[in-house]
Amino acid sequence: MPMNIAIDGPVGAGKSSIADQVAQRLHILHLDTGAMYRTVALYMLRNGIDPQDEQTVSAHCGEADVRVAYRDGAQRTMLGGEDVSDLIRTGEVSAAASAISKWSAVRRRMVAAQREIAATADMLIDGRDIGTVVFPDAELKLFMTADTAVRACRRYKELTGKGMSVTMEEVERNIRERDKADMSRAVSPLRQADDAIVLDNSHMSVDEQMAWFMNEFQLKMKN
Ligand code: C5P
Repeated sequence: MPMNIAIDGPVGAGKSSIADQVAQRLHILHLDTGAMYRTVALYMLRNGIDPQDEQTVSAHCGEADVRVAYRDGAQRTMLGGEDVSDLIRTGEVSAAASAISKWSAVRRRMVAAQREIAATADMLIDGRDIGTVVFPDAELKLFMTADTAVRACRRYKELTGKGMSVTMEEVERNIRERDKADMSRAVSPLRQADDAIVLDNSHMSVDEQMAWFMNEFQLKMKN
């Protein structure tokens, strides 16, 4: 049975960047499940479907052919054979992903696809419901979080670094809205698994987080 490491946490907690580095260090793959929800959202937007319309989203979500591929160890996310990895990073897609991820028909498909992908190799999987729903038996479960202001600051730097024009207030408001949507939805809300190890990285460098992670991993592997 392949090994699964689950990393959950709110937007801007730094899951993806740590997951990428840890996966490289452990020579395993990193599955970014948020990218899969974003790809379904992109499909809905391209087809003029309102992400808030549960009935229409549910009726059409099976048409979105979402797959992941790995190039030089890095995930590329595909929609019907097209590499949409960069196109899914816009604010419009983020908001639509937050909306469509509320619908149980979408979640059912994504969870099944994630289990199928992770059955093929050792993987580190990041998302919102990985330790609670997708892989409740994961070998190691982490819950990464940080203060809202710190997360907003990180996100602001990331977006402006990509040349996007946003204000700090907009970014912080958006984070609060997405946190609220993720935590309050009826199906698979974002929450910490009872057996997850929590890392509040508000005041930690990436190197410190890596050292912490490797230590937790080694402790777990000894037991
Ligand atoms: O992680 P990322 O911000 O890219 O995820 C995009 C959206 O997908 C999140 O705002 C969240 O609502 C949703 N998501 C989810 N469950 C996951 C991963 C992401 O609901 N496992």
